[in-house]
Amino acid sequence: MASANKEIAARSDRVFIGTYSRYPATMVKGVGCRLTDAEGKEYLDFLAGIAVCGLGHCHPAVTAAICHQAGVLVHVSNLYYTEAQTELAELLTTNSFADRVFLANSGAEANEAAIKLARIRGGEGRYRIISLSGSFHGRTLATVAATGQAKFQKGFEPMPEGFSHAPFGDLAALEAMITDQTCAILCEPLQGEGGVRPLDRDYLQGLRALCDRHDLLLIFDEIQTGMGRTGTLFAYEQLGVVPDIMTLAKALGNGLPIGAMVTTKEIAAAFTPGSHASTFGGNPVASAAAVATMKVMLADGFLAEVRAKGDYLHEQLQGLAGRFPALATEVRGLGLIQGLVLTEEAVEKGGTIVARMFAKGCLINFAGNVALRFLPPLIVSRGEIDQMIALLAEVLAEVSGEI
Ligand SMILES: *Cc1c(COP(=O)(O)O)cnc(C)c1O
Repeated sequence: MASANKEIAARSDRVFIGTYSRYPATMVKGVGCRLTDAEGKEYLDFLAGIAVCGLGHCHPAVTAAICHQAGVLVHVSNLYYTEAQTELAELLTTNSFADRVFLANSGAEANEAAIKLARIRGGEGRYRIISLSGSFHGRTLATVAATGQAKFQKGFEPMPEGFSHAPFGDLAALEAMITDQTCAILCEPLQGEGGVRPLDRDYLQGLRALCDRHDLLLIFDEIQTGMGRTGTLFAYEQLGVVPDIMTLAKALGNGLPIGAMVTTKEIAAAFTPGSHASTFGGNPVASAAAVATMKVMLADGFLAEVRAKGDYLHEQLQGLAGRFPALATEVRGLGLIQGLVLTEEAVEKGGTIVARMFAKGCLINFAGNVALRFLPPLIVSRGEIDQMIALLAEVLAEVSGEI
């Protein structure tokens, strides 16, 4: 008989459209930073569902909030008010630059809302949005057009009109692309999918100045960097730049699907009843999960711990980069999003390193074909960081003997 992992995989492969290449495990249970597969093998999770489970798997406060809300009211549509989504929007506005919120169900949808808001506020003929090369903004047609990586667009042309990509980190080149049709600049403060590539403060502050000078909206896609990941609730807080619009999703609901587009009262006024909508957006159960998640993150000391553990992870990775100079060049990131950049010779081993970590029971991934990416739950312990580092040291030692 096939193993329990293989049995589900075989059934799955018979019925799903092949959009994913998956690792050979069927996950059945998650607690904190650990997952268990159908055969009882445990995994140390340094990916957290791709920066989603910030509080780890099945955090008791989030699970309790979901269970409570599911027993009271699951869905009513946005034709009526609910307290859960109201409380979430209050938390988002109280704790950010923003004073208005639109709730969606995913990152791409949050970005779609931002794109539509920027266009309608831009007015007649001002619809173009400049994003950065190497960026990732989602898989819908508009967000894939905004994404600055050709591999995500290939075969789906023609792309929706109105998106162009400025070279990474080059302010003068971006300024030269601004025309009287430009309405916004869209940028991740740190590119996650693109390979954990931070943009420096000077560049981001330069973007702010350009937006002010040309009356453009600065949109920060904080879908991956938001919700405590970088050690502040939002990355912009530590970069000395306040955007006009910010998009969130991933960790917002600690695993329940929810996204948000937040902005100022003045900019929000460009949207009126009927401008935009979502059937599920702000669903009470997802909102209750997000409220519970935010309350844990906002408790005293939580974010300071994320920064301290981020520094610790960074140092430990730097130690490995020093030990394996043929494999790794640098460590970069903010808080608990860290990347170990591989050398040109080692890049083709990126997938192998991830697969060997998987075999040893540790989940990481390889982002943008340049960096091993580490996104542990924010509740990770130093002991768990040590365990991951020990496994990675073993794998890097094996691989360095092979190149
Ligand atoms: C994941 C991600 C998205 C897309 O989010 P989905 O929920 O998959 O639509 C957009 N932008 C960034 C920066 C992301 O990391």
